[in-house]
Amino acid sequence: MNKSCHMLIDYFNRTLTEDEMRQFEDHLIECPSCQEELMEWEMLTENLPYESEAVEVPIDLKARIFASLPDIPAKAEFVTMPTKEKSRRRMGPVTTVLAAGLFASLVANAFLFSETQKEPEIAQSEIQLIGQSILAPQEGTSASAVAMLIADGDQNVLLLDATDLPTLSKDELYQVWVIEGDQPYPAGIVQPNETGTGTVSHPLTNLSGTWDTVAITIEKEPNLSAPEGQIILAGGI
Ligand SMILES: [Zn+2]
Repeated sequence: MNKSCHMLIDYFNRTLTEDEMRQFEDHLIECPSCQEELMEWEMLTENLPYESEAVEVPIDLKARIFASLPDIPAKAEFVTMPTKEKSRRRMGPVTTVLAAGLFASLVANAFLFSETQKEPEIAQSEIQLIGQSILAPQEGTSASAVAMLIADGDQNVLLLDATDLPTLSKDELYQVWVIEGDQPYPAGIVQPNETGTGTVSHPLTNLSGTWDTVAITIEKEPNLSAPEGQIILAGGI
């Protein structure tokens, strides 16, 4: 354990400054212990009471999404959802305690940045975090985003928090997509502020929750039936 390891929980909670975050990401690439811990936290979200069968995204669609991400950095590997095999592994007691605290703060954070008008006390008792993902940026950009799928009563909601989005020209917009099987669905528009930060809270009313990819593209028009523009961020969830 070195001095950077203690930043893991703040990293996962996204409470680090940008400099700290980059510093920690550099550390993470070289620290198996932090990678493992992060993986276990990911497992926790997978172990939540929600069953969804993984659906293979057809190769062409997947290829289209990841074609613009030629070298997904090594650090992206640990954000993919763990296998079922690993999720049966027993968590150590320390990890469990950490993870429980982490989960509570994640949910709280989600509702802090969501646009819901609900009282947080009520919302937190009714929602479940189904899955989350750190989206991998296209090479050459420093953009980053965290996506979370939350079950709010009987409705699924996608929460997405993006930072460092490059400024667009006036006729462009950032479109969020979720992909279920071979079908992409527009899932809100990110409207970044002047510092490139933006959030989206989007109900997924017609989806059964079998989708496995979240992406952000630059489009000329909102809510097309399929992505046409450049993909800037993408990740499995
Ligand atoms: Zn470490």
